[in-house]
Amino acid sequence: MAYIDISNVSKTYPPQNRRGSSVTAVDDVSLGIERGDIFGVIGYSGAGKSTLVRLINGLEPVTSGSIFIDGVDVARLSGRELRETRRRIGMIFQRFNLLRSRTIRGNVAYPLEVAGLSRAERDARTDELLAFVGLADKADAYPEQLSGGQQQRVGIARALAAHPDILLADEATSALDPETTDEVLDLLARVNRELGVTIVVITHEMDVIARIANRVAVMEKGRVVEHGETYDVFTRP
Ligand code: ADP
Ligand code: ADP
Repeated sequence: MAYIDISNVSKTYPPQNRRGSSVTAVDDVSLGIERGDIFGVIGYSGAGKSTLVRLINGLEPVTSGSIFIDGVDVARLSGRELRETRRRIGMIFQRFNLLRSRTIRGNVAYPLEVAGLSRAERDARTDELLAFVGLADKADAYPEQLSGGQQQRVGIARALAAHPDILLADEATSALDPETTDEVLDLLARVNRELGVTIVVITHEMDVIARIANRVAVMEKGRVVEHGETYDVFTRP
């Protein structure tokens, strides 16, 4: 069984109103993501990528099929067990989702506060994370004083705060220009290589997958239409 083992998973949303019809956002998807992978999921808007991420994260239940993470069936978890499994998964977002009223330090420390760490423990871990993402000198700045690329690096630091095994990146570079995209992809590659974090990269951008993912799944209309080593799936000149 793969590290993240997605087996015949479907997700159907009920009709939004009486005249509407249901939407099958994810349609019989099976994928195996191995520990240490940088796994790309590529597809156009509406292909079902974000829904797949929410299912992996246990944010929504599957309609059918199963998702195992490290041998644990996510769909069967609830309460404390689900929270524990979700703590092993970090997330970063297209819009960074930083709190504008908090400093960079305060943003990175946020999940550690929620987890109940002491002030001293939070400060030590936050310093370590900001050094890792190269933003130690920005600890007391506010998000709007940083560039988009720097804000996403803060997002990555926050996502790593609780030592996750898996990082889910949902269109993490889609709001960035090509130069800052490179900066963020380089950091993700370091997170994978130096910290051993398995990364799932969701994107509509072919370049992002080609640069960073060792394996890729192509989604269309809720289905995986092709998957394999990036080298084999993408044509070469
Ligand atoms: P992508 O991330 O590839 O753009 P999504 O997973 O966001 O795709 O959406 C896939 C399909 O599921 C779309 O048709 C979308 O409208 C639908 N969908 C997504 N989330 C919901 C929801 N909460 N309720 C109803 N339909 C949804
Ligand atoms: P304060 O510092 O004023 O006590 P809180 O810690 O209560 O602020 O957080 C302010 C709001 O931000 C809360 O409503 C909380 O739900 C929300 N929030 C918490 N964590 C995050 C996050 N990681 N990203 C975005 N918003 C968050």
